[in-house]
Amino acid sequence: MSLSPPATLAGPITHWIDGTATGSATGSDTIDVVNPATGLVIGAVPAGTPADVDAAVAAAGAAQQAWAGTGVAERIAVVQRIAAGLQARAGEIADLITAEVGTPIALSRMAQAGLPVLVASTFAGVAAGFAWTEEIGNSLIVREPIGVVGAITPWNFPLQQTVAKLAPALLAGNTVVWKPAELAPLTARVLAEVTAEAGLPAGVFNIVHGTGPVVGEAIAAHAGIDMVSFTGSTRVGKRISMVAAETVKRVSLELGGKSPNVILDDADLDTAVALGVGAAFANSGQVCGAWSRMIVPAARHDEIVERAVAAAAEYTVGDPTDETNRLGPLASHVQRDRVLGYIERGIADGATVAIGGPEPIEGLEAGAYVRPTILAGVDPDAVVAQEEIFGPVLTVIPAADDDDAVAIANNSHYGLNGAVFGSPERALGIARRIRTGQVDVNGGQWNPLAPFGGYKQSGNGREFGRFGLEEYLEVKAIQR
Ligand code: NAD
Repeated sequence: MSLSPPATLAGPITHWIDGTATGSATGSDTIDVVNPATGLVIGAVPAGTPADVDAAVAAAGAAQQAWAGTGVAERIAVVQRIAAGLQARAGEIADLITAEVGTPIALSRMAQAGLPVLVASTFAGVAAGFAWTEEIGNSLIVREPIGVVGAITPWNFPLQQTVAKLAPALLAGNTVVWKPAELAPLTARVLAEVTAEAGLPAGVFNIVHGTGPVVGEAIAAHAGIDMVSFTGSTRVGKRISMVAAETVKRVSLELGGKSPNVILDDADLDTAVALGVGAAFANSGQVCGAWSRMIVPAARHDEIVERAVAAAAEYTVGDPTDETNRLGPLASHVQRDRVLGYIERGIADGATVAIGGPEPIEGLEAGAYVRPTILAGVDPDAVVAQEEIFGPVLTVIPAADDDDAVAIANNSHYGLNGAVFGSPERALGIARRIRTGQVDVNGGQWNPLAPFGGYKQSGNGREFGRFGLEEYLEVKAIQR
């Protein structure tokens, strides 16, 4: 069954090339956008082609010199106006992303709509204080834009992941060609309008909708694109690296994770378990840095599982537009089936279902819902302890002692995020031994100035703060 998009919700979505809406959402080559809570079609985007990418790259290339020639102060002012424009439309953004991703509306307002504003304004501040030049001996070091940046983003935080690339790329003096995730593209039009209203010149920011293999690979391969910045799965990141290698462009990858939460035997269990369950289940576990492995002292395993089950029982699942629900559906029915397959695999491999499981939730069968699930007594080498599930599934893994906990935490191809709970000095010592790009000790708060990115197969880039700005800059040394 398919419905026309309500005018106030999706409206016709088009490409955005050289400051103009182009392409038609009503033509035959379109990709439907589906509300995962209902299974109903709520919009459509054009299925872009390599020719659309060519047009966008031509516009971005033509605009780049002039944009780079503006002063940093002018670029900061534009990015601040983009932040303000997104703030002004935050309600609409939250509604759109709740409809396409299924994020519960309260989280959508805070994270899906709120974080892009915070990230853009924080980057503007970083650029204001940034050392654009420095002297090293007889060398003048200058930092210059790379040129045209291709941005490819995932669906889990569709606007946030985009602004985390767009803001630093623009501040650095680059122009951008962006391919939104085809599953969650509805805020692209809002972003295009906001950038235009903020005074961003035509051609500086371009949007081409479409699938990864067609539009994404055309961006990765394009000789007119100097850098590709990708956030998404490790599988696709590898493919993009291969395609981009032909033109030796810079490739910045923010990939998947299987992040450990190490709970030590002197941890405050109330905090460790409550925060641990929350960081496993937020956005139905569709968070790259989700703490999906809880590594606990073997002697306290059962007690911790009991506490985790009590915490998980508070995660009411249902219609994401209902303020009282803490979890909505997964972002698609395909994703739901993938996650259910993992739960079944975990059971087959010997894990105990402490709460949740693969059964459908009564009354919610039409949506892509999954019960928040805790798998206990998981072997650290089991598939559910190794692969990124990207759903509300927490694995609890017993460890013999601190060294064993560190070994289990590092027993992963991934290295994105992590956490340690315990007495402060001991927990800090463990944090230093974990091979991930971020570690939170005793619930340390997210810091928008701190670098975020992966070790190992979680990627090679860093986002946020001055590290995130440096990703989008070339470095030149002039000797005198
Ligand atoms: P995905 O890799 O399937 O898709 C991401 C983007 O890549 C989409 O726009 C998609 O269309 C595009 N794409 C797909 N195939 C492509 C190809 N062959 N060439 C070029 N582009 C292609 O990921 P997803 O399912 O949208 O998102 C979930 C994944 O993203 C998870 O693995 C998650 O951990 C990861 N992620 C990482 C971070 C981070 O900061 N490290 C943040 C959010 C999500």
